Amino acid sequence: MRVLLVEDDFLLGDGVRAGLKQAGFAVDWVRDGQAAKLALETESYAAVVLDLGLPKIDGAELLKWWRRNDTKVPVIILTARDTVADRIAGLDAGADDYLIKPFDLDELIARLRALLRRSVGQAAPILQHGDVELDATMHLVRKGGKVVELSAREFTLLHELLLHTGRVQSREQLEQHLYGWGEEVESNSVEVHVHHLRKKLGNELIRTMRGVGYVID
Ligand code: CA
Repeated sequence: MRVLLVEDDFLLGDGVRAGLKQAGFAVDWVRDGQAAKLALETESYAAVVLDLGLPKIDGAELLKWWRRNDTKVPVIILTARDTVADRIAGLDAGADDYLIKPFDLDELIARLRALLRRSVGQAAPILQHGDVELDATMHLVRKGGKVVELSAREFTLLHELLLHTGRVQSREQLEQHLYGWGEEVESNSVEVHVHHLRKKLGNELIRTMRGVGYVID
């Protein structure tokens, strides 16, 4: 899943980016409101992690602008300003959740996953298909009750396909969820990950639609 991180503090931003990447997200990180605006206009994201105090365009202002165009993508705001008024302003501007700095990275990831589940209408933390189940909270996949080891990208790919069961995802769409900016997209990487997923979880799970993409029926 591709996430936009908007944070001007270098140390914090770097830490959050590393943590989200570790958790299997593809992360684009920008450090001011103007750059965030450009990113939101040109890319598509599964979620946004937004600092409120930003150079050039303030986080709440940016969010208000964006919510006029897009109301669906979940946004978590980060704020150092521990005042009720700031949080209310952020939520009024269209944020779905907030965290007060300093916050725990695991909590951010857990809340992000909860928002992502809700945004695709899946309230249950476990996605199931036949004897395969994916637990997004624990970042675990089981087949027939046994844990199967997946790489971060294999996990992301499976997650994406399970979230959109019955809908074909093109290779380009899937690549978008696997890679952030500046990360080199390995050629045939989606095909390779699908191949590995089939080896680990069974050939029949993911269907190839030749020339179109992949689907879990
Ligand atoms: Ca800031």
